[in-house]
Amino acid sequence: MAWETSNRRERLPDNWAAIRRRIIRRDGGVCVAPLLDSGQRCGEYGTDVDHIIPGDNHDLSNLQLLCRWHHTRKTQRESAAARAMRPRPQANVPRVEREATPDPW
Ligand SMILES: [Zn+2]
Repeated sequence: MAWETSNRRERLPDNWAAIRRRIIRRDGGVCVAPLLDSGQRCGEYGTDVDHIIPGDNHDLSNLQLLCRWHHTRKTQRESAAARAMRPRPQANVPRVEREATPDPW
């Protein structure tokens, strides 16, 4: 099972293959990402079923068909957003400890 070795964040349900087929059929086999300039569908050959809101919601309303390019782009944006939201480990290092320690010299 290739999925077990992947590092996907989303855990796919057992019936994912069936869900995937439904999305491909529903979206007409093409990428539904809106183009920025015209607002029309991308229309490229759809290869990837994407979670509109990332996570474990595999409801058909949360899934869309994307081309590889749009899916990669969306995933990159999402992981960048996740990184931005995570507090940086160095940000809140307390300074109190140092001030409370008497200077031995
Ligand atoms: Zn596309």
